[in-house]
Amino acid sequence: MSETNLLTQLEDMQQKALQAVSAIEDEAALQAWRTAHLGRSAPVMQVFSNLPKVEKELRPQVGQRANQIKQALEAAFTERSEAIKQTSLQRALTQAALDVTLPGRRPVHGRLHPTTQILREMVAIFAEMGFQVFLSPDVETDDLNFGLLNIPPYHPARDMWDTFHAATPGVVLRTHTSPGQIHAMRAYAPEPVRVVLPGMCYRYEQTSVRSDMQFQQVEVLAVGQHITFADMKGTLEGFARRLFGNNVQIRLRPSYFPFTEPSGEMDVECFLCGGKGCVICKGSGWLEIMGCGMVHPTVLRNGGYDPEQFSGFAAGIGPGRVAMLRYHIEDIRYFWANDVRFLEQF
Ligand SMILES: [Zn+2]
Repeated sequence: MSETNLLTQLEDMQQKALQAVSAIEDEAALQAWRTAHLGRSAPVMQVFSNLPKVEKELRPQVGQRANQIKQALEAAFTERSEAIKQTSLQRALTQAALDVTLPGRRPVHGRLHPTTQILREMVAIFAEMGFQVFLSPDVETDDLNFGLLNIPPYHPARDMWDTFHAATPGVVLRTHTSPGQIHAMRAYAPEPVRVVLPGMCYRYEQTSVRSDMQFQQVEVLAVGQHITFADMKGTLEGFARRLFGNNVQIRLRPSYFPFTEPSGEMDVECFLCGGKGCVICKGSGWLEIMGCGMVHPTVLRNGGYDPEQFSGFAAGIGPGRVAMLRYHIEDIRYFWANDVRFLEQF
């Protein structure tokens, strides 16, 4: 190969390489170009390794030119690389542009369960009357759930509650919030007690539109000296008027619970028919909202109070029942079915 030819070839090499690089649009192609034109086996690199074979007089000239070309190609590579980066940045900015004038996407808000909303409303009313919230366990002993509440073993009253029993004998899921009465009295005795006990209760029952195996309940308990039936009536009536409206008709009628004596149930006038009688109130014109009564002397004693000196009243109200009445919900099983279409309405 003649040396003049070699110089011509070098010029040709440079021209081709620079032409090729100017057409490159992406990073991968640019890397391939670099390997081809600046890599170990690139033509210009071959010139360097073949330099000892070049005629002595021409060697400096060829070497110098090859060096210049190598530098020119490296500069071209850097320049193209920058240009490609700029182009892809521009593309990213325009294609994924954020239009700050567009309305935002509203996040989906969670909400409180309808019975929790009612429960909080109820607790707030009692709080204003000086009642504190007292929490007691969902898992109870047979004794606390029944025995200490004046429901001894084999007492026929136990038929009123179908119970979930734990594998450990004598341990049950509470069937009502009433065992909390014993917990609260034992925590406060001999001081007076004024508490509400909200929580979940569990019953081993065939579910139907009117009964489910779990439901919330709020227990009300007041114990002190000189507490009378009139105090109970006044407190519960005041509560019912706050919850259902000032003009609602209320009635208290006798009932039976093993842990209260005397016992009663409170009804409010049916708000659908205004007392005339309809499907919801089954023609009676009244809707039952709670059970109540004066705390039984045995229960007082089990709580640590002397029934000769102390008296008290208790009541139990179901927030679920109140929610059903207020929103005309016809099936109690909707509450724990976890159907968003139902829950979203509240
Ligand atoms: Zn009615």
